[in-house]
Amino acid sequence: MRTFFALDLPAQSKLAIARWRESAFRSLEAGGLARPVPAANFHMTLAFIGELPQRKLEQLCDRVDALLGSKPCAAGIVELNEVGYWPRNGILWLGPAQCPGELQQLATRLRTLAGQAGGKRESKAFQPHISLFRRCTIAPPASLSAPEFAVGYAEITLFESHRGDQGASYQPIHRWALG
Ligand code: ATP
Ligand code: MG
Repeated sequence: MRTFFALDLPAQSKLAIARWRESAFRSLEAGGLARPVPAANFHMTLAFIGELPQRKLEQLCDRVDALLGSKPCAAGIVELNEVGYWPRNGILWLGPAQCPGELQQLATRLRTLAGQAGGKRESKAFQPHISLFRRCTIAPPASLSAPEFAVGYAEITLFESHRGDQGASYQPIHRWALG
């Protein structure tokens, strides 16, 4: 199955971000210049795993248990205050201008474990982000209102990703509470 580690967002944060997106990027949506990600799908990937057989995934989960047991990671708050655009994959995103050190460290550790378990090995630097639009074909206009969302996180979620006719959907299959 295709899986990834991420921070899920509280429902009220998803709604608030979706409301801001609607007003800030009205012209993109109205012009059909990009495909909005459904608010229910908002998440922040920490480490993409990719396809792994069930047995390997279970081993990986055991290693996350061990990691958090030996090196606890505190819950925290991340400020989402920057908009970015990756022309290569057409993703317009929202993320922190400054990545909290704890989150950076957590992502690095999870990426390492995912790679060791046989998952994807990621060489790109970690840029925490929430994808807002896909298939964005033009450099987006400056957002009309600057984003400023403080989102609390208190757990890691392992999601299974399904691809259907309506696009991707994610199913939480395991959660780890942060200290
Ligand atoms: P789709 O690929 O079907 O358009 P998606 O990108 O949301 O939808 P997945 O490809 O399963 O679904 O990805 C799940 C999460 O992992 C997303 O946040 C995605 O950005 C991230 N991701 C996917 N592939 C990689 C990769 N090769 N490296 C890093 N992150 C990835
Ligand atoms: Mg993808």
